[in-house]
Amino acid sequence: MSQEREGRGKDLLSRLSRTLRSGAETLVQETKELTRIGKLKVELLSLENERSRKFEEIGRLAHTLYKEGGTIEQLHEHFEAIDEIEAKIDAKNKEIEKAPPEEKLAQADETPEESVSLYCSQCGAMADADDRFCSKCGNLLKP
Ligand SMILES: [Zn+2]
Repeated sequence: MSQEREGRGKDLLSRLSRTLRSGAETLVQETKELTRIGKLKVELLSLENERSRKFEEIGRLAHTLYKEGGTIEQLHEHFEAIDEIEAKIDAKNKEIEKAPPEEKLAQADETPEESVSLYCSQCGAMADADDRFCSKCGNLLKP
């Protein structure tokens, strides 16, 4: 029984060190452009930070349990909270992955559409460039 507990304790430690390490490497790289992807990335980052905080909390709790002779089972609800956060992280990652490639390129080319204003030669009303007939008098604008 004590062996089983030790095994789970090691598992906890490896989970902890792995996540704390990756959490430390996460840096905010870009916040200037909040495209949809940009927002997703910011949300992803805050989820990762939340997960790191949670792992730190679990680390402290695990140490307390170790000193007071508690069992790792007492941390289950905290592991579940981590699983929830990780599920959200997965969902964000998938959303980012399935985004169209042109959206992933941060520099969205927003070439403004050419706005050519046309005026009806018959009545002088303004018409859109892609209108074939004048909306006012029905005059043929383009052949
Ligand atoms: Zn007209």
